[in-house]
Amino acid sequence: MSTAAGGVTPMMAQYLEIKQANPDSLLFYRMGDFYEMFFDDAVAAAEALDIALTKRGKHLGEDIAMCGVPVHAAEGYLLTLIRKGFRVAIAEQLEDPAEAKKRGAKSVVKRDVVRLVTPGTLTEESLLDARRHNFLAAYATVRDEGALAWVDISTGALSVMTCSAMRLGPELARLGAREVLLAETIEADYAEMVSDLGAAVTPLGATSFDSTSGERRLCEIFRVGSLEGFGTFTRAEISALAGLVAYLEITQRGKLPLLRPPVKEGARAAMQIDAATRRSLELTSAMTGGRAGSLLGAVDRTVTAGGARLLERRLSAPSCQLDRIRDRQAAVAAMVEEATLAEPLREALRGVADIDRALSRLALERGGPRDMAGLRNSLAQAVEIAGLLEGRDLPELLADAARDLVGHDMLLALLEAALVAEPPLLARDGGFVAPGHDPDLDEARRLRDEGRSVIAGMQAEYARQTGIASLKIKHNNVLGYFIETTATHAEKMLAPPLSDSFIHRQTTASQVRFTTVELSELETKILNAGARALEIEKRLYASLREAMLDEAARLSELARALAEIDLACGLADLARARDWCRPVVDDSRAFEVCGGRHPVVEEALRRDGAPFVANDCDLGEAPIHLLTGPNMAGKSTYLRQNALIAVLAQAGAYVPAESAHVGIVSQLFSRVGASDDLARGRSTFMVEMVETAAILNQADDRALVILDEIGRGTATYDGLSIAWATLEHLHEVNRCRALFATHYHEMSALAGKLAGVENATVAVKEWEGEVVFLHEVRRGTADRSYGVQVARLAGLPDSVIERARVVLEALEAGEREGGGARRAVIDDLPLFAAAPPPAPVSPVKPSGVEARLEEVLPDELSPRDALALVYELKAMV
Ligand code: ADP
Repeated sequence: MSTAAGGVTPMMAQYLEIKQANPDSLLFYRMGDFYEMFFDDAVAAAEALDIALTKRGKHLGEDIAMCGVPVHAAEGYLLTLIRKGFRVAIAEQLEDPAEAKKRGAKSVVKRDVVRLVTPGTLTEESLLDARRHNFLAAYATVRDEGALAWVDISTGALSVMTCSAMRLGPELARLGAREVLLAETIEADYAEMVSDLGAAVTPLGATSFDSTSGERRLCEIFRVGSLEGFGTFTRAEISALAGLVAYLEITQRGKLPLLRPPVKEGARAAMQIDAATRRSLELTSAMTGGRAGSLLGAVDRTVTAGGARLLERRLSAPSCQLDRIRDRQAAVAAMVEEATLAEPLREALRGVADIDRALSRLALERGGPRDMAGLRNSLAQAVEIAGLLEGRDLPELLADAARDLVGHDMLLALLEAALVAEPPLLARDGGFVAPGHDPDLDEARRLRDEGRSVIAGMQAEYARQTGIASLKIKHNNVLGYFIETTATHAEKMLAPPLSDSFIHRQTTASQVRFTTVELSELETKILNAGARALEIEKRLYASLREAMLDEAARLSELARALAEIDLACGLADLARARDWCRPVVDDSRAFEVCGGRHPVVEEALRRDGAPFVANDCDLGEAPIHLLTGPNMAGKSTYLRQNALIAVLAQAGAYVPAESAHVGIVSQLFSRVGASDDLARGRSTFMVEMVETAAILNQADDRALVILDEIGRGTATYDGLSIAWATLEHLHEVNRCRALFATHYHEMSALAGKLAGVENATVAVKEWEGEVVFLHEVRRGTADRSYGVQVARLAGLPDSVIERARVVLEALEAGEREGGGARRAVIDDLPLFAAAPPPAPVSPVKPSGVEARLEEVLPDELSPRDALALVYELKAMV
């Protein structure tokens, strides 16, 4: 890139022009086998990718920073950049460099951006987690109404719902959206909340969200005159959908993914679960970030990617619609009962590929023969699965699915005939069309591969025709293929009738060379055969692709059906193996679990060979249970297991219990006291209070609320007061079902005051001064907190434990002597927050003496031992 001082090379001019049009993205600028980055992009990318930063020429007198990645390894680098929050614009060469040269020495190869790669618009297998959705969402407001639309472009599923600003966070958390589009006009209002959820914020011009032109565009895309056939959409909903589609057109540069018609979701159709609750219950990812250790990880026994994603959707959004839940339960039940059917089904499902994602790649022209082969194999497996289901008395959901499995015979036959068994990844190099499918292709390949033997055949034929046994067909770079004889034999060929077909080309000292029309045609054929074979394969590829895309809508139905069957089989397998039960779900306010277990903790204990203690929970008489018990007793586990049972029940799954009866839960809240939570910048106590406020402001009588050690993040009496008032509010105002765990024993007095509150405790027993956890939940209250004993278990030094024991006793005695101060506190709570702290502890008894005395069994002391003991004690004070 040499240039006159201060000047700009034509290539740099092109680069700068493209960069200017894509200012928010790193620009991958294609140069031969590399994507190069320049200027600030190069500096940022070199750091993010940990690759070398170099220089290339000068721009306006300054060095140009540069770095590059090889095209063949670009996907890995892209993934890193996307993970680190970059967006990448990919500028390709749009013509052969030879073309550019023809225009003149200074001509630059045409280049332009063919695609923007952003977190929400990935389709490559290597950039995606097959078992998870990757949602791109758009939020729009029209007047006072908000709407959220979302799409998984790698499957084409498009959804929309009305969504108030307050619901936005929980809904985005449910989807786990990777990227959220916001009109520039409202970006400032939501950007922080969106990034807190871990999604990228992408501002778009307000015109992209225009609902009038958006509606027109949507009608065009779905080839309908009006969207009404898909449902009735509000202006805000259309605006959100319009924003999504506009962005897809921008990032995919006009190529649209296969979109399915928008499905409108009712706000009340799914259990509402906000982000904090999802985190605290570890529904789809564990605190550590991965799938392992989450509910999803523990219950996923699906064998296809589509099945796994369906399970993720179900657990993320358990239904509130009884008929749906029951249909799903019936499908699982059928597979529980018919184990002999479920096994071969699962076996057949293992051969199913990711149909949705293969289709979307093919639609975006990013697919390849392997995607087609995946589809072919899946169609064949579907036929087998349909055969297994045939003639069975199936519940509706499975019967519907079975119907969607068949009817693709033509496409299957075409793919089976057209593709080799294991085609290469890319169409580029050919070699994927099966022999026998296309005569022209077979011929081209024969010529390409067998060129030499065809020539040999021709040589034998000419030798026979001319009677010259020594005649040869040879090749050189000047003449190409030619026929050669010695000068003596040549005369015969230079005279009629042979001279009619043998055309003289050249005479050398000893040889004469000829050609024939036939030979030169053969030569052209051989030379072009490779290119021609490739061309035919490309043509066939295009027609196969078209055949598949024509069937896209029905193929996604097929994919959905396979996922549904896979999920039913997977959940049934789990239910059988773990002895789970089918819960009764209805619209009562019951919550009655017998012998409930925590699916993840039980799994972990099982690996260690430890038993899990099952526990009941019945919120029938008193909808709020106040759970006390020492730390480590199992309070959190118990709370969460009941929340998870509600989630599983409404997801249509079986639940880890002997029996369960769940009245529909429309909102689920779970909060953990501050000190258990991860610090996230703000004060943890503040976070705790903000989250508690959200529950108290939102929970209705259909909510299930799990509060674990709320109020712990502040001084004791503050904490107790807050916990107390929170529980009262839940009881009086929210009137929801709740499990409330606390180590403030004082709170158990509330059960006597509020009709809907009952005390429960996790039992422990004391044995030889140590605490033994029974993990058994019983009615009643804990007699004490055993904090000191638990601390001993944790390995605190003995001297500290001893000292703590003494301090505790003094404190307790002080309170007793203070004229029933503790009772007074409870009866007169509002005053207490301002009450002075308890008097300092004094005097403290020498600790060793007491401990020594505790060990002594007086009846067993001989008079001599007793005297020795007196001396010993005297020496200690
Ligand atoms: P808490 O909330 O009371 O401090 P946790 O619920 O965190 O107690 O439980 C502490 C540990 O006790 C868990 O990690 C688990 O190993 C064990 N545990 C809890 N519940 C049970 C149970 N029902 N059966 C067996 N072990 C349990």
